[in-house]
Amino acid sequence: MDRLPIRLSLWYLIQLLFLCNAYFFTARLGLSLDAVGGFATLVWPPTAIALAALYLYGYRLWPGIFLGAFLVNLWTGAPILVALGIGIGNTLEAIIGIYLLHRFDDSPHLFENVRSVVKFIFLVAFIATLVSATIGVFSLWLGGIVPSLNIPITLSAWWVGDILSALIIFPLLIIVLSKNYTNTIKSNPWEAIGLLLITTIINVIIFWSPSGELREASLLYLVFLPLTWSAFRFGVFGTVISIFLTSRIAIWSTVYEHGPFVQMSLSEGLTYLQLFMAVIAITFLVFSAVVSELKKAVATRDTFMNIASHELKTPITSLRLYTQVIEKQINGREDIPILTSSLSKINRQIDKLMTLIEDLLNVSRIQLDKLELHQEAFDLQVLVQEVVSDIQVDSLHHTIVTKGTLSKNIFADRDRIGQVLINLLNNAIKYSPHADTVLIVLKDEKDKARVIIQDFGIGIHPDHHQIIFNRFYRIISANNTEIPGLGIGLFISQEIIRRHGGQIEIKSELGKGSEFSFCLACT
Ligand code: ADP
Repeated sequence: MDRLPIRLSLWYLIQLLFLCNAYFFTARLGLSLDAVGGFATLVWPPTAIALAALYLYGYRLWPGIFLGAFLVNLWTGAPILVALGIGIGNTLEAIIGIYLLHRFDDSPHLFENVRSVVKFIFLVAFIATLVSATIGVFSLWLGGIVPSLNIPITLSAWWVGDILSALIIFPLLIIVLSKNYTNTIKSNPWEAIGLLLITTIINVIIFWSPSGELREASLLYLVFLPLTWSAFRFGVFGTVISIFLTSRIAIWSTVYEHGPFVQMSLSEGLTYLQLFMAVIAITFLVFSAVVSELKKAVATRDTFMNIASHELKTPITSLRLYTQVIEKQINGREDIPILTSSLSKINRQIDKLMTLIEDLLNVSRIQLDKLELHQEAFDLQVLVQEVVSDIQVDSLHHTIVTKGTLSKNIFADRDRIGQVLINLLNNAIKYSPHADTVLIVLKDEKDKARVIIQDFGIGIHPDHHQIIFNRFYRIISANNTEIPGLGIGLFISQEIIRRHGGQIEIKSELGKGSEFSFCLACT
């Protein structure tokens, strides 16, 4: 019974020890690699470790940070009081940073939305880090290690080192430790490896190609390519890895005197290098958050569409059942003509709603690659006649004229091809408000059957010929804003014909009319 609290506190001690060690050794490593003035580095990794520890595991781990910071400064040669001061500053930096983050942002996915990223950049990367830099440099000055004259330069070096750590290493630690990246990598492992390789190669080209001022400065723009690729394809995880890799190679090359940041004066070169790292980190943290927000919005829309269409289908199916019951009751009675004609109008509206819902479901099926085909041999000419007579009932102002014949059966999914014919014919009628004829031409073509649907309506400008097949795309112009539609008919039709091995071809001239045609294989 008594053992639980002891075990808990033991676990707590282990965590503290682990954090203290991580802080101590990364600080030693940082100082040994690229220390400025003995105590500040280009990028100060312990800042990120401290922030990540408190963010992920809670404030109670603060003694680990304090101990790590205190010991490492003692080790570096600072007097006890100075080391204590620096330890307090470093601990407060992490506590204040995480407090501000929780206080002003409650998003569960810190780097996946723009508002959180912007708040993080200002509150943590810029403000909280100032606490550690100010207290730390003040302690060094009190201890007589930094003279008054050097306060501004030490303070800025300290602050920028902490800022870069928060911007470059903290996001990496959060994403890796919270393990919300595996899916992105698992779905495209080869592309991920390719991206890593190309990022490395591009950075080596930038930093290690023969010098020449203009060439080096211009080559620097190349970093935008892999970083943009990472953001689009691998989201926040890919981006933080790429930012880290790019920064690491940039620092390493500059230390070995290669690349555009090697200047006459070392401190000037390092300042430009830090500026470069800060700019790419801020730009791409925000950019990857924008991309991830957009992707989420699209996924939410698709899920909503799928759920909404399923939900709508249920009441409409039962509505149809009720109309069938009424139909049976009034069957053959001639004394209630208004009821009979109203019922047939209701049925037509139900059919339209069903088609609309089926279209929305088909968009989801195509997205999920679940659009199935049930192919069989059938007479396409008969199907065209059926569709035409169905549509003709509703369109009082247009005459659909069918020309030509087909000599062979085709092998395809009858219902789906029917759907394509309905979509193309409905469009031909919808977008011909001032013409009264729509033409269907049937033609044999070697071992294929061709269907052409021609109208003499508003037509389509060549700029839109391909893009109208995109999901939800509608040409918004003065001509058709009042013409209803969702912009999915052509998308579904194109996909159905594509799955039959063909494609819908378009010929159209603005103001003169359009011709949509497709071929299907004969048996
Ligand atoms: P919807 O008709 O519901 O908007 P579609 O995917 O069927 O969706 O068509 C996409 C767009 O292509 C339409 O909004 C319209 O601008 C254009 N379009 C399609 N068919 C024709 C046509 N026969 N004539 C003129 N424009 C057309």
